[in-house]
Amino acid sequence: MIRDHFRVLTINLSSGRSTIVEVAGRNEVAGGSGLAALLFNKYGDMEKPWDDTEQPLIFAIGPLTGYFPLMSKTVCAFKSPYHNQYAESHAGGRSALALRFADMDGVVITGKAAKPVSIFLGSRHIEIKEVHYLWGMDVYATGKYLRHMFRGSGHRSILRIGPAGEHGSAMAGINADTYRHFGRLGGGAVMGVKNLKGIAIQGDATFLLPDNKDYPKIFEEVHKQLTDTDMMSKYHDLGTPINVIPLNKLKALPVRNLQQTSDPNIAGISGEKFAEVALLRNNACAGCPVGCIHIGFVRERFAKENRYLYRQVAYDHEPIFATGSMLGVLDCFRVLDIIDVVERMGLDVMSSGVALAWATEALEKGIISEKETIIPLKFGDAEGYKEAMIHLAMGTNEFYQTLTKGTMVAAERYNGEDFACVLGQEMAGYATGEAFFTSQALGFRHSHLDSAGYSYDQKTEEKDAAKAADFLIKDEQGRVFLTSMLACLFARGVYSDELLGKCLNSVGYTDLAGSIADVSRHIQKLRWRTRVSTGFDPRSVSIPKRFTEIVTWKGTIDTEYLQSLKDEYSKRIIELSADDNKKTEEINKP
Ligand code: SF4
Repeated sequence: MIRDHFRVLTINLSSGRSTIVEVAGRNEVAGGSGLAALLFNKYGDMEKPWDDTEQPLIFAIGPLTGYFPLMSKTVCAFKSPYHNQYAESHAGGRSALALRFADMDGVVITGKAAKPVSIFLGSRHIEIKEVHYLWGMDVYATGKYLRHMFRGSGHRSILRIGPAGEHGSAMAGINADTYRHFGRLGGGAVMGVKNLKGIAIQGDATFLLPDNKDYPKIFEEVHKQLTDTDMMSKYHDLGTPINVIPLNKLKALPVRNLQQTSDPNIAGISGEKFAEVALLRNNACAGCPVGCIHIGFVRERFAKENRYLYRQVAYDHEPIFATGSMLGVLDCFRVLDIIDVVERMGLDVMSSGVALAWATEALEKGIISEKETIIPLKFGDAEGYKEAMIHLAMGTNEFYQTLTKGTMVAAERYNGEDFACVLGQEMAGYATGEAFFTSQALGFRHSHLDSAGYSYDQKTEEKDAAKAADFLIKDEQGRVFLTSMLACLFARGVYSDELLGKCLNSVGYTDLAGSIADVSRHIQKLRWRTRVSTGFDPRSVSIPKRFTEIVTWKGTIDTEYLQSLKDEYSKRIIELSADDNKKTEEINKP
């Protein structure tokens, strides 16, 4: 339904009260990332810590959700336990469409329940159900119970946390419909601190499509473009693990805590290998004809007489790098074994894999001992890593309690900063060079998807910091509009501003369609202003020594260029955040 405002459900877990509110600002912030920042400015507190129970946990969708293919993401925003600053995490699955069919643009959850609860919401109902018996259960078991308790298969989305979120780990994610995640920056701990074990969203209302001639035509054009591209067939075929071999060839794959950037035995965890021996089936987010989600299996022997059970585990490039090459585990089934434990515990796979890679090298170097790690961590030893993941999620001893706050927190405590592979948060699976290191370290989400620094490294040999910073800022601005529509970023090559304008026009958002450049600039500034108001200072971000020691296909890292790019990009971020933009304050006036 087209609205000039946002329809937002607010839930206070302390009082048990909920209300639907109308929030103005559609033409200023569009939805998604823009709406989340607007809602944090309205309901959040810049000064109070992340675990203050009144801090909001926000979910938001975009104006094109449900109307066009691959508009399938939901943004989750909160003050992060990782750095105590405003943060966003994005996930696919079914939550975006479920919210659309429940007739909501956003949900804001504040307060803390007296006992563990799950929320069940739909277009005309909301129930806050006590679930103390689920506390302590892993993500898989929790999912089974919630699916049974809250009916509506096919129209329903289930978000839940595991033990990591219950224990307040800054590496705890929110599992979305089993195979997708709001993985990074600790959203799971924000649910945990609210005693919120799960959320079931039922898309139970009717959603009418636009009744005009343009809409079906534009839909067909978009669908054709999305399904005709080579890139999309690659995502469907091998999925993102198609990157493993090329990155290894480029000497840009982080291996054994980034002590290497390639390994001669990498074929054991390539996309091709997974597809050949471990792939069971593909899956897709709701509303996506591509289906890039690849699901393999792990087999577990439960009785001597050759009795096995199996579980289905999704894999992608990032989990493979984090639990495979980074940990020196080069067998696809052993990688799936580790991912399976990570999933059950409700950890973010990238952060936890990189954290254990650091711990392994720290143990090798003798700055920590088995007294700390409990397990004799060794690169390549999947069984040890499976156990260590459980310690990380549960915070078994002081060492794991420290490590689970972030690898750099542990590195500072035990004097291992130089080899901590942290770029704002634990690194993503690309060691392409200066532009990527800068873009992840300073980027808004500290994500490889904030801007295409990894691609810039691969396309240009030039070392012009001002030019590279221009690219990162401009690329981020385009992505910010896409994440405000909540398009899957795999579709960024298709959803140009021009095509997005046509899409918005065809469903009736004509004002937005005519002001994409202005709106995306405004959202970019609003997000940075919000982040900086909660304590972020890009000038204080440092890039650990390990990143300057590696050799990629371009040779050694140019530390002077790295520093000047970091300085230049910091300057641009500060300028954006300081920009005198009054729009949000005006929208939020009572
Ligand atoms: S391409 Fe993959 S991640 Fe993107 S919407 Fe489709 S299934 Fe989800």
